[in-house]
Amino acid sequence: MNILRTENICKDFGGLKVLRDVSVSIDEGEVVCVIGPSGAGKSTFLRSLNQLEKITSGKIFIDGELFVHRENNVTVDTNPAAHKRLLLEMGMVFQSFNLFPHKTVLENITLAPVCVKKTPRAQAEAEGEELLNKVGLADKAGEYPSRLSGGQQQRVAIARALAMNPRIMLFDEPTSALDPELVGEVLGVMKDLAQSGMTMFVVTHEMGFAREAANRVIFMCDGIVAEEAAPEKIFTSPENPRTKLFLNSVL
Ligand code: ADP
Ligand code: MG
Repeated sequence: MNILRTENICKDFGGLKVLRDVSVSIDEGEVVCVIGPSGAGKSTFLRSLNQLEKITSGKIFIDGELFVHRENNVTVDTNPAAHKRLLLEMGMVFQSFNLFPHKTVLENITLAPVCVKKTPRAQAEAEGEELLNKVGLADKAGEYPSRLSGGQQQRVAIARALAMNPRIMLFDEPTSALDPELVGEVLGVMKDLAQSGMTMFVVTHEMGFAREAANRVIFMCDGIVAEEAAPEKIFTSPENPRTKLFLNSVL
């Protein structure tokens, strides 16, 4: 059963067509890596799922329920309560960690559960500490983000997203802003998360990660899904010439 599905989603920025009829789905527990050249529309795709961008047209379903339906930049027929509930099913991690600089690590993690989900503070803190332990930062709860390395900040950002107990995690090039020696610790946390059964959409340039952790790889270029296959297939015998060209340039 797919947990998220898009049907012909399109996104225009003025006259620029950035997503053109993107129809994809992801099953529960599946890890799908999205690869492709800069400007392909990968970030716009993730941001459209998470409603940071409003799609021009198309439909998004979560767990079989209609989440978004828009045509000609107008929302058609949504149930606001369902929309709000389904939005919380997604957590997102960005390239730039986006932590709140004036809050401690633990406060960063407990803010949304306490303010949005009305989780009692003591419970949110206990769960936050458990998550910090999971990402290997049990000793950093009281620290401020500026005193952490990029890799540590990104692991906090992952813990913060997980604190809302999402069913799907969206990652937009989570290791691209990191010094090379810090990439591994973040990918390690992501691999653990994948192994724990989390459903994940991961936009990444880390082809090793895609090959190892993905159940399926989507190659995007010019706003379309140009090829979609198991990692073995994509990396050893891609069919689309654009995929070949891209992989030749990055591998
Ligand atoms: P990718 O993540 O694959 O590099 P993006 O989704 O960031 O690609 O961008 C795809 C295209 O959309 C690019 O041409 C980019 O300039 C354009 N774009 C992205 N966001 C905006 C925006 N807010 N306004 C106008 N154009 C945008
Ligand atoms: Mg991007």
